[in-house]
Amino acid sequence: MEQYYIGVDIGGTFIKAGVCNGQGKILAKSAIPTGKERPYRAIAEDMAKQIYALCEEAKISLSSVVGVGAGSPGNIDSATGTVIYSPNIRWDNVPIGACLSELIGKPVRLTNDANAAALGEARFGAGKKYSDSLFITLGTGVGGGIVIGGKLFEGFRSAGAEVGHTVIHVGGEPCACGRSGCFEAYASATALIRETKKAMERAPQSLMWKYAPTSDEVTGKTAFDAAQAGDLAAQAVIDSYILHLGEGIVNLINILRPEVVILGGGVCAQGDALLVPLRKHVEKYSYGGMQHAPVLVEIASLGNDAGLLGAAALLM
Ligand SMILES: [Zn+2]
Repeated sequence: MEQYYIGVDIGGTFIKAGVCNGQGKILAKSAIPTGKERPYRAIAEDMAKQIYALCEEAKISLSSVVGVGAGSPGNIDSATGTVIYSPNIRWDNVPIGACLSELIGKPVRLTNDANAAALGEARFGAGKKYSDSLFITLGTGVGGGIVIGGKLFEGFRSAGAEVGHTVIHVGGEPCACGRSGCFEAYASATALIRETKKAMERAPQSLMWKYAPTSDEVTGKTAFDAAQAGDLAAQAVIDSYILHLGEGIVNLINILRPEVVILGGGVCAQGDALLVPLRKHVEKYSYGGMQHAPVLVEIASLGNDAGLLGAAALLM
Protein backbone atom coordinates (compact mmCIF):
# COMPACT_ATOMS: atom_id res chain seq x y z
CA MET A 1 0.00 0.00 0.00
CA GLU A 2 1.38 3.40 -0.94
CA GLN A 3 2.02 5.70 2.00
CA TYR A 4 0.85 9.29 2.21
CA TYR A 5 1.74 12.35 4.24
CA ILE A 6 -0.24 15.35 5.41
CA GLY A 7 1.40 18.78 5.39
CA VAL A 8 -0.12 21.74 7.23
CA ASP A 9 0.90 25.38 6.95
CA ILE A 10 -0.53 27.27 9.93
CA GLY A 11 -0.89 30.98 9.29
CA GLY A 12 -2.46 33.88 11.17
CA THR A 13 -5.28 34.12 8.59
CA PHE A 14 -5.51 30.71 6.91
CA ILE A 15 -4.54 27.12 7.63
CA LYS A 16 -3.45 25.43 4.42
CA ALA A 17 -3.19 21.66 4.32
CA GLY A 18 -2.54 19.03 1.71
CA VAL A 19 -2.13 15.29 1.19
CA CYS A 20 0.96 14.25 -0.73
CA ASN A 21 2.88 11.11 -1.62
CA GLY A 22 6.55 10.38 -0.92
CA GLN A 23 7.60 12.16 -4.13
CA GLY A 24 5.99 15.42 -3.04
CA LYS A 25 3.04 15.16 -5.40
CA ILE A 26 0.04 16.95 -3.87
CA LEU A 27 -3.15 14.91 -4.32
CA ALA A 28 -5.51 17.36 -2.64
CA LYS A 29 -5.19 20.62 -0.77
CA SER A 30 -7.40 23.18 0.93
CA ALA A 31 -7.34 26.35 3.01
CA ILE A 32 -9.60 27.14 5.96
CA PRO A 33 -9.79 30.35 8.05
CA THR A 34 -7.62 30.11 11.18
CA GLY A 35 -10.06 31.92 13.45
CA LYS A 36 -7.13 32.69 15.71
CA GLU A 37 -9.18 34.35 18.46
CA ARG A 38 -10.67 30.93 19.40
CA PRO A 39 -9.24 28.45 21.92
CA TYR A 40 -6.51 26.35 20.30
CA ARG A 41 -8.50 23.14 20.76
CA ALA A 42 -11.25 24.47 18.48
CA ILE A 43 -8.62 25.29 15.87
CA ALA A 44 -7.13 21.78 16.17
CA GLU A 45 -10.61 20.28 15.74
CA ASP A 46 -11.02 22.25 12.49
CA MET A 47 -7.62 20.99 11.34
CA ALA A 48 -8.69 17.40 12.03
CA LYS A 49 -11.88 17.91 9.99
CA GLN A 50 -9.83 19.48 7.20
CA ILE A 51 -7.51 16.43 7.19
CA TYR A 52 -10.42 13.96 7.03
CA ALA A 53 -11.97 15.93 4.14
CA LEU A 54 -8.64 15.95 2.26
CA CYS A 55 -8.24 12.18 2.62
CA GLU A 56 -11.74 11.71 1.26
CA GLU A 57 -11.05 14.06 -1.65
CA ALA A 58 -7.77 12.27 -2.45
CA LYS A 59 -9.58 8.91 -2.10
CA ILE A 60 -7.11 7.51 0.42
CA SER A 61 -7.77 5.99 3.82
CA LEU A 62 -6.36 7.53 6.98
CA SER A 63 -4.64 4.20 7.66
CA SER A 64 -2.32 4.84 4.68
CA VAL A 65 -1.26 8.21 6.17
CA VAL A 66 2.10 8.05 7.97
CA GLY A 67 1.51 11.25 9.91
CA VAL A 68 1.03 14.98 9.88
CA GLY A 69 3.72 17.63 9.64
CA ALA A 70 2.92 21.23 10.45
CA GLY A 71 4.73 24.54 10.10
CA SER A 72 3.77 27.41 12.37
CA PRO A 73 5.07 30.96 12.74
CA GLY A 74 6.89 31.79 15.96
CA ASN A 75 9.16 29.91 18.36
CA ILE A 76 8.49 26.20 18.18
CA ASP A 77 9.76 23.34 20.32
CA SER A 78 9.73 20.61 17.70
CA ALA A 79 10.65 17.90 20.22
CA THR A 80 7.35 18.40 22.06
CA GLY A 81 5.23 19.81 19.22
CA THR A 82 4.61 22.99 21.18
CA VAL A 83 4.29 26.55 19.92
CA ILE A 84 6.29 28.39 22.60
CA TYR A 85 5.34 31.83 21.37
CA SER A 86 3.69 33.07 18.20
CA PRO A 87 2.83 36.75 17.93
CA ASN A 88 0.88 36.15 14.67
CA ILE A 89 -1.60 33.74 16.21
CA ARG A 90 -1.10 35.00 19.79
CA TRP A 91 -0.27 31.51 21.03
CA ASP A 92 1.71 31.04 24.22
CA ASN A 93 2.94 27.54 25.08
CA VAL A 94 0.27 25.83 22.99
CA PRO A 95 0.73 22.01 22.63
CA ILE A 96 -0.92 22.03 19.20
CA GLY A 97 1.03 18.95 18.02
CA ALA A 98 -0.11 16.74 20.91
CA CYS A 99 -3.66 18.05 20.67
CA LEU A 100 -3.97 17.31 16.93
CA SER A 101 -2.27 13.93 17.33
CA GLU A 102 -4.80 12.94 20.01
CA LEU A 103 -7.69 14.00 17.75
CA ILE A 104 -6.60 12.08 14.64
CA GLY A 105 -4.58 9.23 16.15
CA LYS A 106 -1.50 9.92 14.03
CA PRO A 107 1.97 11.25 14.88
CA VAL A 108 2.25 15.03 14.40
CA ARG A 109 5.58 16.80 13.84
CA LEU A 110 5.87 20.56 14.21
CA THR A 111 8.46 23.08 13.07
CA ASN A 112 8.80 26.79 12.40
CA ASP A 113 7.14 27.92 9.14
CA ALA A 114 10.41 29.15 7.56
CA ASN A 115 12.08 25.83 8.44
CA ALA A 116 9.20 23.96 6.81
CA ALA A 117 9.55 26.04 3.62
CA ALA A 118 13.33 25.43 3.68
CA LEU A 119 12.82 21.67 3.87
CA GLY A 120 10.15 21.79 1.15
CA GLU A 121 12.45 23.63 -1.26
CA ALA A 122 15.37 21.37 -0.33
CA ARG A 123 13.45 18.14 -0.97
CA PHE A 124 11.18 19.03 -3.85
CA GLY A 125 12.03 22.52 -5.12
CA ALA A 126 15.03 24.67 -6.07
CA GLY A 127 17.34 22.67 -3.77
CA LYS A 128 16.41 19.13 -4.75
CA LYS A 129 19.70 18.45 -6.54
CA TYR A 130 21.78 19.54 -3.51
CA SER A 131 22.29 18.12 -0.04
CA ASP A 132 23.20 21.39 1.78
CA SER A 133 21.00 24.42 1.27
CA LEU A 134 20.16 27.68 2.96
CA PHE A 135 16.69 29.13 2.49
CA ILE A 136 16.06 32.83 3.09
CA THR A 137 12.65 34.42 2.81
CA LEU A 138 12.42 38.16 2.12
CA GLY A 139 9.01 39.27 3.32
CA THR A 140 7.71 41.41 6.17
CA GLY A 141 10.75 40.06 7.99
CA VAL A 142 13.67 37.86 6.98
CA GLY A 143 13.19 34.19 7.85
CA GLY A 144 15.53 31.33 7.25
CA GLY A 145 16.00 27.61 7.28
CA ILE A 146 19.12 25.46 7.09
CA VAL A 147 19.21 21.99 5.54
CA ILE A 148 22.40 19.97 6.03
CA GLY A 149 22.81 16.54 4.47
CA GLY A 150 19.13 16.64 3.49
CA LYS A 151 18.06 17.21 7.11
CA LEU A 152 16.70 20.31 8.77
CA PHE A 153 19.11 21.91 11.24
CA GLU A 154 16.96 23.62 13.87
CA GLY A 155 19.45 24.29 16.67
CA PHE A 156 18.96 23.70 20.40
CA ARG A 157 15.25 23.32 21.19
CA SER A 158 14.54 24.36 17.57
CA ALA A 159 15.42 27.98 18.31
CA GLY A 160 18.15 28.35 15.66
CA ALA A 161 18.31 29.42 12.02
CA GLU A 162 17.08 32.93 12.86
CA VAL A 163 19.27 34.32 10.09
CA GLY A 164 17.34 37.61 9.97
CA HIS A 165 18.58 38.54 13.42
CA THR A 166 22.28 38.64 12.72
CA VAL A 167 23.69 42.16 12.85
CA ILE A 168 25.21 43.56 9.67
CA HIS A 169 25.44 47.20 10.85
CA VAL A 170 26.32 47.87 14.51
CA GLY A 171 24.15 50.71 15.78
CA GLY A 172 22.05 50.57 12.61
CA GLU A 173 18.30 50.50 12.03
CA PRO A 174 16.19 49.27 14.97
CA CYS A 175 14.84 45.73 14.68
CA ALA A 176 11.67 44.18 16.12
CA CYS A 177 13.87 41.72 18.08
CA GLY A 178 15.34 44.50 20.23
CA ARG A 179 18.75 44.77 18.58
CA SER A 180 19.85 47.34 16.01
CA GLY A 181 21.26 46.78 12.56
CA CYS A 182 19.91 43.27 12.00
CA PHE A 183 20.01 41.72 8.51
CA GLU A 184 16.19 41.81 8.62
CA ALA A 185 16.21 45.58 9.17
CA TYR A 186 17.94 45.97 5.76
CA ALA A 187 16.92 42.98 3.63
CA SER A 188 13.19 42.57 4.35
CA ALA A 189 10.52 43.96 2.02
CA THR A 190 9.63 46.24 4.94
CA ALA A 191 13.15 47.70 4.86
CA LEU A 192 13.05 48.12 1.08
CA ILE A 193 9.75 50.03 1.39
CA ARG A 194 11.19 52.21 4.19
CA GLU A 195 14.25 53.12 2.10
CA THR A 196 12.09 53.74 -1.01
CA LYS A 197 9.96 56.22 0.94
CA LYS A 198 13.06 58.00 2.30
CA ALA A 199 14.52 58.32 -1.20
CA MET A 200 11.22 59.68 -2.55
CA GLU A 201 11.20 62.38 0.15
CA ARG A 202 14.70 63.40 -0.98
CA ALA A 203 13.84 63.30 -4.70
CA PRO A 204 10.51 64.97 -5.49
CA GLN A 205 11.21 64.64 -9.24
CA SER A 206 11.85 60.90 -9.08
CA LEU A 207 9.86 58.53 -11.28
CA MET A 208 9.11 56.57 -8.12
CA TRP A 209 6.29 59.08 -7.52
CA LYS A 210 4.74 57.95 -10.81
CA TYR A 211 4.58 54.34 -9.59
CA ALA A 212 3.48 55.31 -6.08
CA PRO A 213 1.74 58.72 -6.06
CA THR A 214 1.31 58.59 -2.27
CA SER A 215 3.50 57.16 0.44
CA ASP A 216 0.83 54.52 1.26
CA GLU A 217 1.13 53.10 -2.27
CA VAL A 218 4.86 52.32 -1.99
CA THR A 219 5.60 48.60 -2.26
CA GLY A 220 8.70 46.47 -2.67
CA LYS A 221 8.18 46.86 -6.43
CA THR A 222 8.15 50.68 -6.62
CA ALA A 223 11.92 51.27 -6.75
CA PHE A 224 12.48 48.30 -9.09
CA ASP A 225 9.85 49.63 -11.54
CA ALA A 226 11.27 53.17 -11.51
CA ALA A 227 14.86 51.92 -11.82
CA GLN A 228 13.81 49.85 -14.83
CA ALA A 229 12.49 53.07 -16.38
CA GLY A 230 15.90 54.71 -15.85
CA ASP A 231 15.37 56.61 -12.59
CA LEU A 232 18.71 57.12 -10.82
CA ALA A 233 17.33 57.72 -7.32
CA ALA A 234 15.42 54.44 -7.58
CA GLN A 235 18.52 52.64 -8.88
CA ALA A 236 20.43 53.88 -5.81
CA VAL A 237 17.74 52.37 -3.54
CA ILE A 238 18.04 49.03 -5.34
CA ASP A 239 21.86 49.08 -5.31
CA SER A 240 21.88 49.74 -1.57
CA TYR A 241 19.24 47.07 -0.91
CA ILE A 242 21.20 44.46 -2.87
CA LEU A 243 24.48 45.48 -1.20
CA HIS A 244 22.99 44.87 2.27
CA LEU A 245 21.23 41.67 1.16
CA GLY A 246 24.48 40.45 -0.40
CA GLU A 247 26.54 41.18 2.71
CA GLY A 248 24.07 39.30 4.91
CA ILE A 249 24.10 36.34 2.53
CA VAL A 250 27.92 36.29 2.31
CA ASN A 251 28.11 36.18 6.14
CA LEU A 252 25.85 33.12 6.14
CA ILE A 253 27.77 31.50 3.26
CA ASN A 254 31.03 31.99 5.16
CA ILE A 255 29.60 30.11 8.15
CA LEU A 256 27.70 27.34 6.37
CA ARG A 257 29.09 27.16 2.83
CA PRO A 258 25.94 25.56 1.42
CA GLU A 259 25.73 24.41 -2.19
CA VAL A 260 22.81 26.69 -2.86
CA VAL A 261 21.15 29.72 -1.29
CA ILE A 262 17.43 29.72 -2.11
CA LEU A 263 15.52 32.98 -1.91
CA GLY A 264 11.78 33.15 -1.29
CA GLY A 265 9.26 35.92 -0.56
CA GLY A 266 7.68 38.70 -2.59
CA VAL A 267 10.90 40.57 -3.45
CA CYS A 268 12.02 37.56 -5.52
CA ALA A 269 9.36 38.35 -8.13
CA GLN A 270 11.93 40.88 -9.44
CA GLY A 271 13.91 37.98 -10.93
CA ASP A 272 17.08 38.98 -12.75
CA ALA A 273 16.97 42.63 -11.61
CA LEU A 274 17.66 41.19 -8.15
CA LEU A 275 19.55 37.99 -8.97
CA VAL A 276 22.17 39.20 -11.45
CA PRO A 277 23.79 41.88 -9.22
CA LEU A 278 23.29 39.73 -6.11
CA ARG A 279 25.11 36.76 -7.65
CA LYS A 280 27.94 39.09 -8.66
CA HIS A 281 28.28 40.30 -5.04
CA VAL A 282 28.21 36.78 -3.64
CA GLU A 283 30.80 35.54 -6.15
CA LYS A 284 33.10 38.45 -5.46
CA TYR A 285 33.01 38.40 -1.64
CA SER A 286 32.42 34.80 -0.49
CA TYR A 287 35.53 33.73 1.42
CA GLY A 288 38.16 32.03 -0.68
CA GLY A 289 36.32 32.79 -3.90
CA MET A 290 34.12 30.53 -5.96
CA GLN A 291 36.64 28.29 -7.73
CA HIS A 292 36.88 25.64 -5.03
CA ALA A 293 33.36 25.57 -3.61
CA PRO A 294 30.91 27.60 -5.69
CA VAL A 295 27.62 28.66 -4.09
CA LEU A 296 24.56 29.06 -6.29
CA VAL A 297 21.91 31.66 -5.59
CA GLU A 298 18.48 30.61 -6.85
CA ILE A 299 14.85 31.67 -6.51
CA ALA A 300 12.49 29.31 -4.67
CA SER A 301 10.38 27.26 -7.06
CA LEU A 302 7.45 25.90 -5.02
CA GLY A 303 5.70 29.18 -4.20
CA ASN A 304 3.00 28.82 -1.56
CA ASP A 305 3.30 25.01 -1.50
CA ALA A 306 6.84 25.05 -0.02
CA GLY A 307 5.65 25.18 3.61
CA LEU A 308 3.04 22.49 3.15
CA LEU A 309 5.39 20.08 1.32
CA GLY A 310 8.22 20.73 3.77
CA ALA A 311 5.94 20.06 6.72
CA ALA A 312 4.87 16.77 5.12
CA ALA A 313 8.56 15.93 4.54
CA LEU A 314 9.14 16.03 8.33
CA LEU A 315 7.57 12.56 8.38
CA MET A 316 9.46 11.13 5.39
ZN1 LIG B 1 16.63 41.52 14.82
